[in-house]
Amino acid sequence: MENCTKRKKIVLVGTGFVGMSFAYSLLVSGGIDELVLIDANEEKAIGEAMDLQHGLPYAKHKMQIKAGNYAECKDADIVVITAGATQKPGETRIDLTLTDTKIVKSVVTSVMKNGFDGILVVACNPVDIMTYVAQKISGLPANRVIGSGTLLDTARLRFMLSEKLHISTNNVHAYIMGEHGDTSFVPWSHSYIGSKKLLDIAQEKNISIDELNQIYTHVQQAGYEIVNRKKSTYYGIGLSLNRLIHAIFNDEEVILTVSCLQNNEYGYSGIYNGVPAVITKNGIQEMLVLDLTDEEKTKFIDSCKTLQKIIDEVVEPVL
Ligand code: NAD
Repeated sequence: MENCTKRKKIVLVGTGFVGMSFAYSLLVSGGIDELVLIDANEEKAIGEAMDLQHGLPYAKHKMQIKAGNYAECKDADIVVITAGATQKPGETRIDLTLTDTKIVKSVVTSVMKNGFDGILVVACNPVDIMTYVAQKISGLPANRVIGSGTLLDTARLRFMLSEKLHISTNNVHAYIMGEHGDTSFVPWSHSYIGSKKLLDIAQEKNISIDELNQIYTHVQQAGYEIVNRKKSTYYGIGLSLNRLIHAIFNDEEVILTVSCLQNNEYGYSGIYNGVPAVITKNGIQEMLVLDLTDEEKTKFIDSCKTLQKIIDEVVEPVL
């Protein structure tokens, strides 16, 4: 991102629960200069901008917030897409594919028509597939089209392991890889607490692999559990997006689990899926390629094949 040193500008498309949780987190964290809100429901975007503006006198950082249109994308550093349909109880993220493909296609077309040349961050579901759509429609280099991927799932895993082991989430180095959805998995062989292998600690504490897998199941089901109780999930993803955009603006070289275009790093090519990657001002600087066990490799490839099938059957016909 060439213009990283100038005013830091984000255009947010989609001012629903996820978009506004992210926007509110920016008001609290600061770190950007300008936030422009766009929504198909223009009145909602205006109302949300007004509501955030009225918090500015008590915010710790100065920031310009307004509702706008796609012309604002021209000089934006990052466009974040949270426009989309939400999961209803009983629906999977995959059920949203056709609706969200059409939404992402039209949003990205408008973004690019207005001369956008920054980094696209995609959060709408099914996020790995929507990031594929965004990259294909935008024509931007793959390192500049990033899906939120398993950022949130990894946060959930770190939280749950931290509770189980009574260790700060900061010292839990464990990732959820694969789809942000049902075919995700944890490469336990590459999970650490501090610098000690999680599997060794589990053995010392008499925690069985079944118990660890139960923790994964809770992570994988967490979205459904929350949707059943309060219809949608948004604070966790809002902060995950905040973490990602700060990593970009601050050129952090931090490892985050995001959805990246696969180029045979893990044995599959041509689709987006969640892997640990180094995030810098250029977006995805490089993927961290873990030496997965044969079982973990199979899980990753199976996850890719599941996404590929949906892309072929549902997405490609409408692109
Ligand atoms: P929401 O219904 O509250 O908000 C969606 C917003 O998108 C609405 O304001 C709607 O008007 C707007 N919109 C729809 N079509 C549009 C278009 N063509 N152009 C501009 N705006 C448009 O939904 P939400 O709860 O905020 O969820 C948004 C998306 O984020 C969904 O796809 C959801 O599944 C996804 N999500 C992702 C994660 C993650 O971890 N990646 C977590 C939770 C939700």
